[in-house]
Amino acid sequence: MTLSKIFLFCLIHVNWAFFVANAHTKGENEFRYYEHNAPEHVKKFYKENHTKQTLDFVLQQKAKYRPLDKKVMSVWEAFEQLNTLVDESDPDLDLPQIYHAFQTAQAMRKDDQPRWLILTGFIHDLGKVLTLFDEPQWATVGDTFPVGCAYSNKVIFYDYFANNPDWNSTTYQQECGIYNPGCGLKNVHMSWGHDEYLYYVMKNHLPEEALYIIRYHSFYALHKENEYQHLLDDYDKKMLPWLKLFQQYDLYSKSEEKIDIEKLYPYYKKLVAEFLPAKLNW
Ligand code: FE
Ligand code: FE
Repeated sequence: MTLSKIFLFCLIHVNWAFFVANAHTKGENEFRYYEHNAPEHVKKFYKENHTKQTLDFVLQQKAKYRPLDKKVMSVWEAFEQLNTLVDESDPDLDLPQIYHAFQTAQAMRKDDQPRWLILTGFIHDLGKVLTLFDEPQWATVGDTFPVGCAYSNKVIFYDYFANNPDWNSTTYQQECGIYNPGCGLKNVHMSWGHDEYLYYVMKNHLPEEALYIIRYHSFYALHKENEYQHLLDDYDKKMLPWLKLFQQYDLYSKSEEKIDIEKLYPYYKKLVAEFLPAKLNW
């Protein structure tokens, strides 16, 4: 994607006056303020997500996207595609995705985090290009959770699971369901969305810590609520601190402050080229 295209997009789609007028720094407990006060569109999103994300659906999506035969494109082309998406599950951000990418990564840069982590922050939501392939938002964004076993009541909008056909399966609603205790998340099927999909795309290119972050960054019931401990193995326990660190940047860097994309672009162009090939399979 050319810089001029990103810039043109911003001029067309972003109402600067609005964002400057509304910019304020949120306190930590103002983020993800869901259940009591969630906007209608966020409730509607989770109702659909929790109703339709069955084990069968997840297995079907994995088989569909695992071959990575849908498209060949660069990271920059993927960003360009994403620019029109506003995440319906996110009560904290109404800006196009590219701003969230820069904000997350910039917050890491300020703290002198390693380059692979800054890159991970920059690209972590690129799996949302699933909407390009006509996937609905309920199968692309939002918090993720294990399927095929009992739902934790700490998963956001837990009550909506009563509408999921898996709710009535005695096997799936055992604590470990179809899994063995301590089997490790690598053996657990998560609800389908941009996390698992981008993990497939990046699998051969990034360090394992980066892949772990990408794969589980929306699993709030784990990294925020410490649920599902019975499914974790030693590898998960080793990786969990990275996930928790990442979450701080993913969430608390969200703001409606303006970012000077033009100035930042050369740094990120170099960073992306350092780790990733010019074109990726999607
Ligand atoms: Fe995400
Ligand atoms: Fe994010």
